[in-house]
Amino acid sequence: MTESNLRVIVIGAGLGGLALAQGLRRDNIDVAVYERDESPTSRRQGYRLRLNPEGLTALEDLLPPRLNQVVWATCSMPRPSLIFDAGLDPLPTTDPGRGAGNDRNVVVNRLTLRQILLDGLDDNVRFGCECLGYRTNADGTVTALFRDGSQATGDVLVGADGVNSAVRQQYLPHARVMDTGVRIVYGRFPLTPDIAARIPEHLFTLYTGVSGPDRQHIGIAPVQLRRPFEHTVARLAPGLRLTDTEDYMMCLFAARAELLPRTDAELRDATGYQLREMVSTMVGDWHPMVGSIVDMWTPATVFPLVLRSSVPIGPWPTTAVTLLGDAIHAMSPAVGIGANIALRDAHLLATQLGKIARGADRVAAVRDYETAMIEYGFDAVRTSAVYGEQRMGQHPLVL
Ligand SMILES: Cc1cc2nc3c(=O)[nH]c(=O)nc-3n(C[C@H](O)[C@H](O)[C@H](O)COP(=O)(O)OP(=O)(O)OC[C@H]3O[C@@H](n4cnc5c(N)ncnc54)[C@H](O)[C@@H]3O)c2cc1C
Repeated sequence: MTESNLRVIVIGAGLGGLALAQGLRRDNIDVAVYERDESPTSRRQGYRLRLNPEGLTALEDLLPPRLNQVVWATCSMPRPSLIFDAGLDPLPTTDPGRGAGNDRNVVVNRLTLRQILLDGLDDNVRFGCECLGYRTNADGTVTALFRDGSQATGDVLVGADGVNSAVRQQYLPHARVMDTGVRIVYGRFPLTPDIAARIPEHLFTLYTGVSGPDRQHIGIAPVQLRRPFEHTVARLAPGLRLTDTEDYMMCLFAARAELLPRTDAELRDATGYQLREMVSTMVGDWHPMVGSIVDMWTPATVFPLVLRSSVPIGPWPTTAVTLLGDAIHAMSPAVGIGANIALRDAHLLATQLGKIARGADRVAAVRDYETAMIEYGFDAVRTSAVYGEQRMGQHPLVL
């Protein structure tokens, strides 16, 4: 197949931007991705991710079969989620992210998935390139402007640059991102056989939530790669170097900001050790196993997060600039679907851009993507906000 004339510029090499680039490359569409970070490992970006059938279906179509096999070789498939009270007595759950045994919910390590998504894109992705905004040109093209003074021009510009999206801030200045009022302390510890043996077997689920007073919340989730995977990876993707493959337990603590003994600035400045001590004290009256699990956190892995959510907006006039993933519909992680929706966006947008490359009208094809994405993306934001309110006491969406 010959390369089409369509040139796509993607801002952000996160999960959504890279999945889109893989789909475009599959269709021989000229795609260039610009990422602010110096490398995929230069910033702490989070740990475990649940992929649901929606995300997996998108990957199945966007990635070459060999890379899909690598995803399956490096994921884990724990039992469905459970929720407990602070005394570790089970609570009923109607959580849409719970995952039934047979509905293909899997767990991946975020960095591992990102490294897989980067495979084969060496010529398409440029790191250390922060986009400050863009300019539309008289011939209908769009030029992205970067901090180092460089520029890149394409026929379509996709903002896949996450919750603080520079592209969205210029394009849709009325689209707001709100503070949910919830703060997360996020960490992990290695699941060596010794440590795993100290945690009750029934806590090894897709996601085990412990609901404490004032909707304070502890979540734990194991990431245990199916071993051995090294041979499969070496055979299917010989150039791929996976750098974070230890088994671990992801552990997070979520609480409303006013319940914490530290301000946001103090949380930011605290060491991992101090954050762990703070959480350990806060769960001091809960079941002793909860405190033991918190005490296992590796301090160097612990960091705080301010939870934010996009506020849904109505449709906007379609142009050659569009958005995907958290750049337009960031959501509470209460259900664990944000990345899956970003992958769904990438899948749909790749399909629409493929149509443009084959001669379809550019604006009409992008509008079809945006019409669908605005509906399912903001539905997910609203659902996540409802569960975030029930589970962690987050503020309702201010519409
Ligand atoms: C604690 C927590 C747990 C979560 N768990 C899950 C889960 O289990 N399942 C799930 O589906 N979702 C989960 N999510 C949500 C998920 O992380 C996001 O929805 C997902 O990462 C969105 O992908 P994205 O590609 O849109 O954005 P991102 O992954 O944020 O990628 C954006 C990229 O753009 C880059 N960038 C930013 N600004 C610029 C710029 N100006 N120029 C160039 N590059 C730029 C960033 O460096 C980044 O690499 C969780 C979120 C949190 C906070």
